[in-house]
Amino acid sequence: MRIVVVGAGLGGVAAAVGLHRAGHEVTLFERGAELREAGTGIVVMPNGLRALDTLGSPLRGHEMLGTPAIIDRADLHRTLRAPLPDDLVCTGIPVERLEPGPTGVTVISDGVPVARADAVIAADGIGSRLRGHLFPSHPGLRRTGRMDLRGMLPRPAGLDTDLLACQLVDRRSGAMFGLFPVGEHRLYWFTDSALHGPPPGADEARRQMLSLMADWHPLVTELIEATSSTDIYVDSITCLAEPLSSYTAGRIALLGDAAHAMPPDLGQGAGQAFEDAAALTRHLTGAGPADVAERLLRYDAERRPRANRIMRAASRQSRLTSQTGVAAWARDLLLRAVPTRLATRRLAALWHA
Ligand SMILES: Cc1cc2nc3c(=O)[nH]c(=O)nc-3n(C[C@H](O)[C@H](O)[C@H](O)COP(=O)(O)OP(=O)(O)OC[C@H]3O[C@@H](n4cnc5c(N)ncnc54)[C@H](O)[C@@H]3O)c2cc1C
Repeated sequence: MRIVVVGAGLGGVAAAVGLHRAGHEVTLFERGAELREAGTGIVVMPNGLRALDTLGSPLRGHEMLGTPAIIDRADLHRTLRAPLPDDLVCTGIPVERLEPGPTGVTVISDGVPVARADAVIAADGIGSRLRGHLFPSHPGLRRTGRMDLRGMLPRPAGLDTDLLACQLVDRRSGAMFGLFPVGEHRLYWFTDSALHGPPPGADEARRQMLSLMADWHPLVTELIEATSSTDIYVDSITCLAEPLSSYTAGRIALLGDAAHAMPPDLGQGAGQAFEDAAALTRHLTGAGPADVAERLLRYDAERRPRANRIMRAASRQSRLTSQTGVAAWARDLLLRAVPTRLATRRLAALWHA
């Protein structure tokens, strides 16, 4: 089958690789001038690692599928796209709209048809234009009122390793700091705090964060200060205002953030995109132009309940983490009272598709 994938983020690339390996004639359209993933580190949870494994993209050095992997985003993107032949990838092509017909879908960019496909996978990210066309009555995105700052830097010598792979939350401000090693030589940190107004640039965001965290463990401010501005990314966190009622429309399927953009609090955005890519590949293996719509309905039936559930859980987690004062004390008391077995079972439900 001829399959067009729109958007070469982590989700689109994973889907293109899976569908190519399944024997389909894949074309990947990316609006950016080159293939790359901006950002710092990313935590890929065990469910995401397993999905990549089934797509034939096991991550070297992360053979332990039961634990999260912390990876440089650019490295992850490079590793995922490596099996894609160059001639399948078309960069600098912003897909404007899709025109579905009885025997296929025409892909339009800058007012002209650029491809005709038996199926189209819309992996055009959180601000998905194609989602807006397919589901015009969906309310789109909502702001969570949170700002995330992320940075990566070389690992300082003599670092207190007890502080690695930790997350700290401040009950006074609801701010959060997380720190993880990336390989042996680098560190990935992230913060989450309330955002009032438009998101500031990297330098101003760093200044605000340093003042908010001035009396935290000294390592927190030292690491934020030591990170080069060019390695700091600022995001105003948005997510889908409501879950979608379908991830498919005829021969078109949504995947990744286009289908279920969620707050990053559970570290599941990319993991869910990888689960989408693995499920899509499975359902479209052996499919032909005549049964593609029916196969995509099976993809929707498998993926939507789980991904929408995780999206709701991520929103709940975001609200819970950002609580302050008495509500934050009550949260921590309650969390301490949760039996370990129950907490482990909840985590297992997330990490096992
Ligand atoms: C602060 C922060 C921290 C996060 N941390 C984690 C984490 O630790 N773990 C995790 O699993 N997830 C995390 N996430 C979520 C994760 O980054 C996303 O879920 C994931 O990257 C989504 O991938 P995607 O391919 O769906 O979309 P994107 O990565 O947004 O890719 C979409 C691609 O489509 C292209 N595109 C858009 N429109 C068009 C068009 N019209 N035509 C052609 N191309 C187009 C874009 O240029 C882009 O390349 C985090 C998110 C944030 C904001």
